Amino acid sequence: MSDLITIDEGRKRVLAAVRPLPPETVPLADALGRVLAADVASEIDVPPFASSAMDGFATTAGPAGVVPVVGESRAGSPWEQVLEPGTAVRISTGGLVPEGADAVVPVERTEETDGGVRLPDRQPNQHIRYPGEDVHAGDVVLRAGMVLGPAEVAVAASLGRAELECAPRPRLAIVVTGDELVEPGTPLPPGGIYSSNGWALAGAAARAGAELVSRETVRDSAEDTRAAIARALEAADVVCISGGVSVGPHDHVKGALEELGVQERFWGVRLRPGKPTWFGDREGTYVFGLPGNPVSAIVTFQLFARPALLALQGASPQAARVTAVLGEAVPRNPGRDEAVRVRLDEADGRRRAVPTGEQGSHQLTSMLGADGLAMIPTGEGELREGDTVEVELL
Ligand code: AMP
Ligand code: MG
Repeated sequence: MSDLITIDEGRKRVLAAVRPLPPETVPLADALGRVLAADVASEIDVPPFASSAMDGFATTAGPAGVVPVVGESRAGSPWEQVLEPGTAVRISTGGLVPEGADAVVPVERTEETDGGVRLPDRQPNQHIRYPGEDVHAGDVVLRAGMVLGPAEVAVAASLGRAELECAPRPRLAIVVTGDELVEPGTPLPPGGIYSSNGWALAGAAARAGAELVSRETVRDSAEDTRAAIARALEAADVVCISGGVSVGPHDHVKGALEELGVQERFWGVRLRPGKPTWFGDREGTYVFGLPGNPVSAIVTFQLFARPALLALQGASPQAARVTAVLGEAVPRNPGRDEAVRVRLDEADGRRRAVPTGEQGSHQLTSMLGADGLAMIPTGEGELREGDTVEVELL
């Protein structure tokens, strides 16, 4: 691990390796959270016909007076005749405005009389929604690469689309290594700790659109590690391994990856926390060896594995970044860029980044309430309160 690369160089190598997964057709009911793989153009006008924006009467523009009521046009039950000038039909919101009508009068401005309905003075086009006011036939409404949220799914429905071309969810396998690890819910033996990385990685990966296909914990044995990684490679598009990727006598991950023919793309990043991060690939499966320290695992997932999951789905792998002023002084690290967990707030009209507390890579609670990672460049001394930093949003 003599030549540490920069964070940007690491991400560049990840993105250079990743090929997007071939798209699939997805029913609208399963589309939420998926990444759209093809532009969606509308085949229809939305709304598809002139409709009323109010409950009231559809009629012709003209001066105040009493006019006869000749029918009713309800939402879903149109009055399909041609309206004669100087007559009216009762209409409900969403009802078809009949041919010949060019104004709608809200019911609260009318008065029913023996001879019909008394209408005020009315202007052409009032309270009518014309076809295509939302979307014109032929308009491209949704773009490839968009993440489909509730609004995007609803818009697709409004166009009548029952299926969408989407990227598949990348299949993710997690391999957690460590003799010391104990699952929550069991007593802690001497020297044991509760395993948290699998939970962090599974959660972060789900947020990035991945589907968890396997998750296992292995002891620090070369054989078990190799067997678990071999299974993960068969099952997944992306394998995230936690721990065992350093140079200790009980770290078996690198050796296993080499034996399994996974091509190393980098090992060692000029980053704190997260120096021993490893990345490589084998035949379209991408493997991240993430450090075991809980904060390091989350930070390196965010910086390297998340962009890969997004790129596999054809989404923009760029994390949102903002600038902020530091809310307190932060020491600089002479050898590595530092990702400091910060809370964002506003002070004196400026966005402020306040470290979440102690920043040790074992201090998992420093992730609580963190809005982003403030990137503190390598250097001597410290950044002072009020200095500007880039913050990568979590
Ligand atoms: P390693 O990268 O395997 O050398 O582990 C570095 C540190 O992270 C050690 O203190 C481990 O006990 C700790 N660690 C490794 N895996 C986990 C895990 N799944 N949950 C919590 N801590 C872990
Ligand atoms: Mg370990």
